Amino acid sequence: MSYRELKAECYEANLLLPKYKLIDLTFGNVSVADHARGVFAIKPSGVEYTQLTAADMMVVDFEGKVIEGALRPSSDTPTHRRLFQAFRSARSIVHTHSRNAVAFAQAGLGIPCLGTTHADYFLGEVPVTRPMTDDEIKSDYEWETGNVIVERLQHLNPEEVCAVLVHGHGPFSWGPSGAKAIETALALEIVAEMAYKTLQLNPAATPISPSLLQKHFFRKHGKDAYYGQG
Ligand SMILES: [Zn+2]
Repeated sequence: MSYRELKAECYEANLLLPKYKLIDLTFGNVSVADHARGVFAIKPSGVEYTQLTAADMMVVDFEGKVIEGALRPSSDTPTHRRLFQAFRSARSIVHTHSRNAVAFAQAGLGIPCLGTTHADYFLGEVPVTRPMTDDEIKSDYEWETGNVIVERLQHLNPEEVCAVLVHGHGPFSWGPSGAKAIETALALEIVAEMAYKTLQLNPAATPISPSLLQKHFFRKHGKDAYYGQG
């Protein structure tokens, strides 16, 4: 993939954040990687979405070196870098401060799978990380944010649970393309809102059964998927 194509995909995906109302102010960013070349494109830091152009996208390598671009890459770049290193199947990473997902992150709660909307996207609870330590926050904060995510996903399959909440912060999601990772970020916000309302109506609501969870997830994902037009 050329840098131009990488930057174009990244730009298109970044524009979907305000379109889907996943962004307030400039809190959020999308990156798109070329694993074979060990590089990714990411939004520049603090640039308004209305001002953004495809040419502004920064290309950074997996070691953190800026390869192409005149601006400063997003301050969250080390988190994206850490996740690309750990999750080989993730071609795109999305970070937002979407409100309902943030509410769960701030409450220190994972989002339980209370219905099939959730099960269509995530094979079980969307987990929350542990709080970061003072040392992690004071040292290499954004890199360590990636580390707590990788630690939380240690015993999970990132293709089955393709989102996480960073404690006291907000959601990260990922996927095989910029568009797909954005769709997951939007689905995450929707199921967070649904779960929040469900728990308000009935604080004792419990997750759906494993059979309903697996039915819904695997009819859309994996080798036996049959939902949609293939
Ligand atoms: Zn953030």
